[in-house]
Amino acid sequence: MINNKRRGRIVKTNFIEFDASKCEACWKCISSCQSCVIGKIDIFFHKHARIIKSDACKGCLKCTKVCAYGALVRI
Ligand code: SF4
Ligand code: SF4
Repeated sequence: MINNKRRGRIVKTNFIEFDASKCEACWKCISSCQSCVIGKIDIFFHKHARIIKSDACKGCLKCTKVCAYGALVRI
């Protein structure tokens, strides 16, 4: 069951908001998240991070600190 809260290309957990339209696919957020909340879509001409386990987000905000493009922000 998909339980992410979706609005266009915006996906939220209880603590952070991800905007796929701003993502530059650097993958830093994926390695920063110890709860494995963030995954990726990595196919030809379609690459961006993806919230895959929103319920697991603990709100540590590490992902928002490593994202240089403003794609991950605190709610
Ligand atoms: S706030 Fe922390 S737990 Fe939540 S997605 Fe970001 S790095 Fe992972
Ligand atoms: S750190 Fe930001 S730009 Fe890099 S993959 Fe994650 S959301 Fe995208």
